[in-house]
Amino acid sequence: PVMFNALVEEYVRLAYHGMRASPNPIDIQIVFDLDSSIDEVSLITEDFSRVILNLCNNAFDAIREKLKTESFSPRLEVKTFKTEDSIILEIIDNGTGIPDDIKEKILQPFFTTKRGTDGTGLGLSITNDIVKAHGGSIGIESVPGEGAKFIVKIQ
Ligand code: ADP
Ligand code: MG
Repeated sequence: PVMFNALVEEYVRLAYHGMRASPNPIDIQIVFDLDSSIDEVSLITEDFSRVILNLCNNAFDAIREKLKTESFSPRLEVKTFKTEDSIILEIIDNGTGIPDDIKEKILQPFFTTKRGTDGTGLGLSITNDIVKAHGGSIGIESVPGEGAKFIVKIQ
């Protein structure tokens, strides 16, 4: 059992600091909107931290990619909230977005649009496996050119 919001905040910050220390750092405004009524979540194990890291790193890559062609204010929004029967984590970026024709493929192992050694294509497939092991599911919403939203639902 872990304190869900604390885990989310810790690993988003860890991902951001890692990216800031990388050879291609970018400034991103990170906005947290965490539901304080969520405390201990017994179904969550520490490997859920990889879900947070993978989704953040993809968001940073999508923002970095979009910055190559246009100037905008990079933003990552991290939300948690409860529904009647589940806990939701949303990671929302204003990067490149995801073209409709590849949206169906991105959870598959080895699918990547990143060149060379930049991407293994394993991040989302591992992420999806971990979420499923928690009895949950991942939803993806995107307006190409505007950004992407990854919705992690845990039962
Ligand atoms: P990798 O990051 O190694 O490419 P992933 O499995 O993490 O592999 O992601 C697969 C692909 O999904 C990425 O190459 C990218 O095309 C797309 N993708 C994932 N997250 C985002 C995002 N937040 N915005 C835009 N595209 C994304
Ligand atoms: Mg990735």
